[in-house]
Amino acid sequence: MINRDTFFIGGQWVAPSNKETIEVHNAGTGAVMGSVPAGGELDINAAVAAARGALEAWSQTPVEKRAEYLEKISAGLKARADELGKLIAQEVGMPIKLAGRIQAGLPIANFANYAKLVKGFKFEETVGNSVVVREPVGVVGAITPWNYPLHQITLKVAPALAAGCTVVLKPSEVAPFNAFLLAEVAESVGLPKGVFNLVTGLGPTAGEALVKHPEVDMISFTGSTRAGKRISELAAQTVKRVALELGGKSASVILDDADIASAVKATVNGCYLNSGQTCTALTRMLVPESKYDEAAKAAAEVAKGFTLGDPLSESTKLGPLTSAAQLERVRRYIKKGLEEGAELLAGGPETPEGLPGGYFVKPTVFGKVKPGSTIEQEEIFGPVLSIITYKDEDEAIRIANDTPYGLAGAVWSKDEARAQKVARRIRAGQVDVNGGAFNMNAPFGGFKQSGHGREAGVYGLEEFLEYKSLQLKG
Ligand code: NAD
Repeated sequence: MINRDTFFIGGQWVAPSNKETIEVHNAGTGAVMGSVPAGGELDINAAVAAARGALEAWSQTPVEKRAEYLEKISAGLKARADELGKLIAQEVGMPIKLAGRIQAGLPIANFANYAKLVKGFKFEETVGNSVVVREPVGVVGAITPWNYPLHQITLKVAPALAAGCTVVLKPSEVAPFNAFLLAEVAESVGLPKGVFNLVTGLGPTAGEALVKHPEVDMISFTGSTRAGKRISELAAQTVKRVALELGGKSASVILDDADIASAVKATVNGCYLNSGQTCTALTRMLVPESKYDEAAKAAAEVAKGFTLGDPLSESTKLGPLTSAAQLERVRRYIKKGLEEGAELLAGGPETPEGLPGGYFVKPTVFGKVKPGSTIEQEEIFGPVLSIITYKDEDEAIRIANDTPYGLAGAVWSKDEARAQKVARRIRAGQVDVNGGAFNMNAPFGGFKQSGHGREAGVYGLEEFLEYKSLQLKG
């Protein structure tokens, strides 16, 4: 059992202001794996005061020195990578091999990358008689979800610290233990007191207290569109900057000249990564009417290869969902798909056999899904693929763009120029062309109700900077 009973505030491990706790469950077994304190307004106030107190000195610390701390944090995480991968495999349910590579690997890489980026960043330039300087925005409140918990924390904390901001982190209550590990690493590398602070708790209490706090200059949020809207409303009262990374319903557009087998395989893989609990998951596969039978057969075949199992087993391809609430939600959507008359090609709502306790759902594929239907429009956040047919390229683009979201997408064609042309017409923050790989230095974020602001690379660093013009007499 992992029972955390303190917060990391002002460089100290401090007792919470109340005795309430939140249970954390092991996704693979459903058993309680430990608990964290349910912080409230008083705890957030203490953390914000610590961050505010540390801001002046940290923002004046030379960039090279700040970069050095980031490098040390990266090395500290690397030294605990196996522990981290195993921990997140249990909190989230991602199979251990992938969890090691992605859930532990990306944070290690991103802390090191921001150390490098910030050293090369131009913090000022001359424009006419002005020197335009980039200054840290101030105290940052970071609120994060559970699906790639430490990666999402890192994409806020690393660039914020690099920029010279101080941070109060309120991680997801569903997968919070990895954040404590980060705080331990921050402490062990001697990060100055108050630069990074950690308070756990629920969204409506700890989260909202952070958003409303007048001494917080910016909220950087990743999570659901529902919570993002609420956060925007609350943050408006103190006119603070808000960056939102929200949900998605991304389309993989397979054009009529594409290699169907490889495009389908990559789309199913992109849909089922982390059991479909990926904001950029390719959950809608758009295929020409004439290729439907071939694509449907191929998708069902690929789905069947996703063997479900214990996330701690090396041979598992598909882990459980992260929580009981997720399981309930995904099953509800699968039943809805059946009610809406979609063709069930693989999986279904029944509990898979031989996996007692964990939050498992069968890898599911729906064919002939109608544009505008619930499962075609709403983010399911589970291993559920919808195949939709189209008549021509214009209709494919219209369907791809016709949801409230705009986070990601993919296009497949033997003609690279044609694929790029279609990709440019998709209103989303990142579109993979013919399986182009994830790039940690490219901007990540959404159009429409997928949010605003960008994370990753230099774009993510700029989010945490303000412009200032010094007008010189010359
Ligand atoms: P969630 O919105 O329920 O919770 C996210 C975080 O916000 C948690 O820390 C939670 O405690 C907090 N929160 C909830 N309500 C709040 C409120 N009223 N005020 C302040 N904080 C509040 O989301 P989740 O279920 O943890 O994560 C899943 C969602 O996150 C999905 O919709 C997914 O698409 C999205 N997501 C987006 C990205 C991206 O980069 N665009 C990445 C990963 C996940």
